[in-house]
Formats: sequence, C-alpha cells, structure tokens
Amino acid sequence: MPNIAVMPGDGIGQEVIPSALRILKAALGADAARWHFEALPHGADHTLKTGQTITASEMQSLRSFDAIVVGALGDPRIPDNRHAKDILLGMRMQLDLYCNFRPSFALSDALVPLKNKGARDVRFTVFRENTEGLYTGIGGNFKMGTADEVAVEQEMNTRKGVERIIREAFAYAVRTGKRRLVMADKANAMTHGHGLWRRVFAEVCKEHQAIEAKALYVDNLVFQLVRDPSQFEVIVTNNLFGDIVTDLAAALQGGLGLAASANYHPGGPQMFEPVHGSAPDIAGKGLANPMGAVLSLSLMLERLGDPTRAAALEAAVKRTIEAGITTKDLGGTATTKEVEEAIARNVF
Ligand code: ATP
Repeated sequence: MPNIAVMPGDGIGQEVIPSALRILKAALGADAARWHFEALPHGADHTLKTGQTITASEMQSLRSFDAIVVGALGDPRIPDNRHAKDILLGMRMQLDLYCNFRPSFALSDALVPLKNKGARDVRFTVFRENTEGLYTGIGGNFKMGTADEVAVEQEMNTRKGVERIIREAFAYAVRTGKRRLVMADKANAMTHGHGLWRRVFAEVCKEHQAIEAKALYVDNLVFQLVRDPSQFEVIVTNNLFGDIVTDLAAALQGGLGLAASANYHPGGPQMFEPVHGSAPDIAGKGLANPMGAVLSLSLMLERLGDPTRAAALEAAVKRTIEAGITTKDLGGTATTKEVEEAIARNVF
C-alpha cells in the first residue's frame, strides 16, 4: 500500500495539488483504495500560527513515506520566506535528496517558443546536483552595512557529491536508452571546483563508451539550448547552474505551469513537486495551471514502479492541451477546475 505524504503548502499549491490528486485517483481507479495519503499542514499559515516551520522530528518522519508530494512554499506574509527555506532546503539537505530530476518534454508544437522548432526538438532531462555547490550557506559578511562590506559565498564541491550525481545521470541514460549526455560547468573560470567535475566526469565516461558524452561550459550550453535543443538528451550539472538551466528548460517546454520535478535519493526518500512557486498574484482565483503538478505525479508513478499509469497521466495532459483546454498561462481561458476535469476525462 503506497503511503504518500502530501504538503500542498502555500498559494497555488493549495489549488494544484488537490486537483492533481483527484486526477491521480481517477487514474488509479479501484486501486485508489489501497493508497494512503497523509495531509501535512506545513506552510505559511502553519508557521504564522505555531511559530514553527518544520521540526527535526517531523523532517525525519518524512523518511517513512514512499513519496512526498509538495505544492509550493512562499508567502508575502513571511518576507524572508524562512519557512520555505527550512522546509525545501531542509528536505534536500537533511533527507539527502541529491538528485533533482527535471524532464523537459514539450507536449505540443504550439507551446515551443523557438522559431521553426516543435515538440520533437524539446526532449531532454536535466540532473541538477541538489545538496552542494553554492547552496550550502557557507560564507559570511564582514563590515556589513558599511561602504567596506565584504560578502563571501563559497561553492562546495565534494568528490562524493560530484561523482554520485554524474553516475545517476549516466545510469538514467543507460536505463532509458539515451545516447547523448552533457555535463555543464565553468571549469575555465572556476578551476578548482569545476576542475573536480571535469576529472570525475572523464573517469565515469570511460565506463560508458556507448554513450556520446561531453563536457560543455554552461554559457555554451544555454546558447546551444536556445539555438537547437534537439542536440540534448541528458544534461548533468551543479546546483546553481541547474537552477538556472531548468528554468530555461521550463520555458522551452511551454512555461512554468507545465514543468515537473522529482527530488530523490536513489533507493531512499523521494519528493515530487511542480517547478513553479506559490504565485501569490494568481492564488485563490482559479487561474493556476495544475499540469505541472499532474506531471509531477506522473514522475512519482514512474518511480513507484507504475510506468503504464505514469504514461497515461502524461497522455491525458497532452490530449487536454491538444483540445485547447488550458489556463491563461498557456493562452487558454479555462479555470483550474475545468482543466482538472478535462485531464481526468482524458485518463484512459
Ligand atoms: P514563489 O515566491 O513561491 O517562488 P513566485 O510567484 O515568485 O512564487 P512562481 O510562482 O514560480 O514564482 O512564478 C512566477 C509567475 O508565473 C507567477 O507569479 C504566475 O503569474 C506565473 N505562474 C507560475 N506558475 C503558474 C501556474 N501553475 N499557473 C499559472 N501561472 C503560473
């Protein structure tokens, strides 16, 4: 019996996650009765009410679930978004979810924003290292607030961290029959840390002679991604570059409303979330696109060992787009509920 933790969180997370779960239940049919969904209250309201973001024991208890589903965290009432940082970065670091898996598969020609390019050109997956790099908070400020202020942010790259994400990207390429893999870095300017990435990459490449693998500078990667994304099948990169490249990837597939992600530790905890944030500008208005959340649940089904239903959810989203039933961000006029109902009808 799959045991799923559900944390809708803030803003449009409260809309897209319930929608996506109703669609999941439609896809599961009679099997839905075997699934257990545990609602978690964490988010801005919970923090404002209790003064807590997430406790250490609550964080550790997440390990007991087969999957964790998160909506979005971020709320203007908590200007430093301390709760979002504690919960999202906390999960990545404390549960060691070192793989951030972000597929960018366009579902319709009309949604690809590049001239003379279509859905067949945007079919790549980014593996972003999720626990190191520039996101560890190592650094500090000196003479803060003065004209002489110094701010240092240190990038941390460990041999173990670099090797395991590169290996996971190769393992995915082998498992899914991909032929091309690119590692993106900035080893010409950041010789120490990214020199390590280059050395480890060269070692792991030797074990995978059947895969055409190369290292690219990240500036060249983004240039090439816009020029011709069909060159890419699997991309692996560090935390900061992955953060930036995956937003570009979301734009190439049609926008933030469609982008899905998995954050996981192979063989361990796994968390699934749409890439978008809480979007306070449209929250509560029925305008949020639930497709990114649905596609995140498709990734969850795939990783829980049900590729048939995973594909059915993706196909249902595709049919709904083809039928022109989309929210405003994709150029349509439908509400969140109308898109949800159309996707649920299209699941078969
Ligand atoms: P946060 O602070 O939580 O990251 P944000 O508003 O800064 O939230 P996003 O929500 O990621 O950032 O996205 C920016 C904008 O894109 C939103 O303000 C919204 O207008 C639009 N957007 C994002 N996701 C969706 C969606 N699922 N459906 C419709 N529009 C969306």
